[in-house]
Amino acid sequence: MAEATGFKDGLSRGGGSGELRQSNLTAILRFLRDHGASSRHDTARGCGLGVSTMTDLVGDLRARRLVAELDPIRRPGAGRPTRPIALDGEPWCVMGVHVEVERVHVRGATVGGTDLWQETAEAVFAEHHDGAAVLADVIVAQLPNVPEGQQLVAVEIAVPGYVATDGQSVSSRALGWDGVGVGKAVRSALADAGLPDVSVGLSSDFHLAGLFAARSLLSDASSTVAAYFGGVSEVGSALVVNGEIFRGAGGGAGDLAHLHVQLDGTRCWCGRHGCLNSVIRVQELLVQAGLHDEEAAAELVVTDPDAALSLLVDAANAGDTRVVEALEKAGSALGRAVDDVVGSVNPHAVVLGGYLGRLAPFLLPALDRQLRARVHEGPYADTRILVTDEAEPPVAAGAVLAARDACLYDPLGLTTPLR
Ligand SMILES: [Zn+2]
Repeated sequence: MAEATGFKDGLSRGGGSGELRQSNLTAILRFLRDHGASSRHDTARGCGLGVSTMTDLVGDLRARRLVAELDPIRRPGAGRPTRPIALDGEPWCVMGVHVEVERVHVRGATVGGTDLWQETAEAVFAEHHDGAAVLADVIVAQLPNVPEGQQLVAVEIAVPGYVATDGQSVSSRALGWDGVGVGKAVRSALADAGLPDVSVGLSSDFHLAGLFAARSLLSDASSTVAAYFGGVSEVGSALVVNGEIFRGAGGGAGDLAHLHVQLDGTRCWCGRHGCLNSVIRVQELLVQAGLHDEEAAAELVVTDPDAALSLLVDAANAGDTRVVEALEKAGSALGRAVDDVVGSVNPHAVVLGGYLGRLAPFLLPALDRQLRARVHEGPYADTRILVTDEAEPPVAAGAVLAARDACLYDPLGLTTPLR
């Protein structure tokens, strides 16, 4: 069909049909997501669309309550007042789900971005042989939180592990899962609950934390590259390219936490010795700083990760020499990893979040020294090192972003005209 394959044809026929129409609608929604309220003129130009096409497409998006027309703005001497358009999405609801070993955090929001609810449910996956069914039950139990008059359109599930390239099955050492069909189980549970058309997405937990960090910290995330390092007491990481998670060939890209930074070193759960995580995880820092022996450190990071981190921060602030030296060495190790990442992907920004953000004042001097040779070279001179002050990794918030995106990227499949 000419409409579906030819870009020009699509334009002349008022937005095209099928895939072309979908991609034009998504272009508008992405533009408004990334630039906020904008004039029709700027939106059309930003999306490469003609005026009559825009009128048709915006009409469709307004009927679906994905776009709203704002009050007119009159500029002095500028003739007719213009009515900017902006993302709406308030009738459509999404869920961001963060799966941990013993609990599940859920955040509900509208596609437009209004927070609706937050809940944490206990769920000990290790005790169940069918973890996917346990998770599906937790998600279905959240459905009464969807407000009257709103409709759930997308769920994004963050897992502590890898998602297969089919986007459906999960392997996780932390959960003891090996190719567990989470996507299928959740979709079928939602269908049984009367919601057969909800989009169900799956991502690695730190991919989503990185997505949230990049989108919230970079003024133009949609055209920048960011590398994210964070975590509660172990390093998690992600690469975010042009505002989207960079997943690579098998979904495992951005695994910066296990870069080789030291020839020897303690063994990481990944099986390597001297990977970044093995050298700078909180447990190892407590030992190197002389604050705990190995066993006590291992226990504290599991039972009270906040207290474990505060122990380091307080001792460093008090000027404890051994602690400061341990953190300096950690800063060097992190700096070696960051240097390699900066060279391999030349990001606009490297983000230090989670516990690395809280330790940043003690890590950055040594990290900067490791980057000295790098930043003297032209392409890397403007790389920014950004530190965030997250109370905890923004995994559930990233899942909400990804679930909202699912709707913006499939408006024809997930929404219907409401008027
Ligand atoms: Zn490792």
